[in-house]
Amino acid sequence: MKEKDRKIKGLIFVISGPSGSGKTTLVNRLLDGRDLKNKLVKSTSFTTRPHRSAEEPGKDYFFITRDEFNALRSAKKILEWTRYLGYYYGTPKDHIDKQLKKGKNILLCLDFRGALKIKRLYPGNTVTIFVAAPSLTMLQKRIEGRCSRTRKEEIRQRLKLARQEMRNSRKYDYRLVNKSLQKSVGELKNIVLGRLSN
Ligand code: ADP
Ligand code: 5GP
Repeated sequence: MKEKDRKIKGLIFVISGPSGSGKTTLVNRLLDGRDLKNKLVKSTSFTTRPHRSAEEPGKDYFFITRDEFNALRSAKKILEWTRYLGYYYGTPKDHIDKQLKKGKNILLCLDFRGALKIKRLYPGNTVTIFVAAPSLTMLQKRIEGRCSRTRKEEIRQRLKLARQEMRNSRKYDYRLVNKSLQKSVGELKNIVLGRLSN
């Protein structure tokens, strides 16, 4: 066991999946439910991408400028980061360190690169879960339905990246296809509760 793993007690659940597969919706439902409310802390990432109207700053993301992001990175305040469609996304290091020190379980929504990094940092404590959409057609409908202002070119790029992300899905500990929301929330809850009770 590595030094870092010996020091932490909690588990880190990393959820990945193509944009529009339903990660945010599933995570919000999961955390709203009574079973997990006080057992899991969600990390809110920094991002330089524009804010969507349905998103709550500070809950869904901390929306910051590129200069602010660079300053945080230089100050080593970002645990891991990625670039997606020209925007930067990063996990706040201080928040994660603080929660881990308290022995809390953490939930992160990250791309494949982020999932790998967290697994590398905390191999014995990380559980990775991939959320897929039932089909690319459904994925496109969900991306379009989520925000009517999303440009055609951005949708095309998100779908192109989705195909790449699907290829990595087998590398995750768990994989779920988010067809019925209610069923998927149940599946996700069972995975998390199952691992927490081990
Ligand atoms: P992600 O966080 O993976 O990018 P979202 O959670 O933002 O995806 O979901 C994208 C859109 O799909 C949202 O409008 C959401 O309400 C919808 N959605 C999520 N899960 C389902 C589902 N099982 N069935 C139908 N629509 C869904
Ligand atoms: P979106 O713009 O759809 O909210 O997010 C785009 C992608 O960035 C998604 O795959 C999402 O999971 C990922 N992402 C969001 N925040 C972070 C982060 O802090 N780190 C990493 N590595 N990926 C992130």
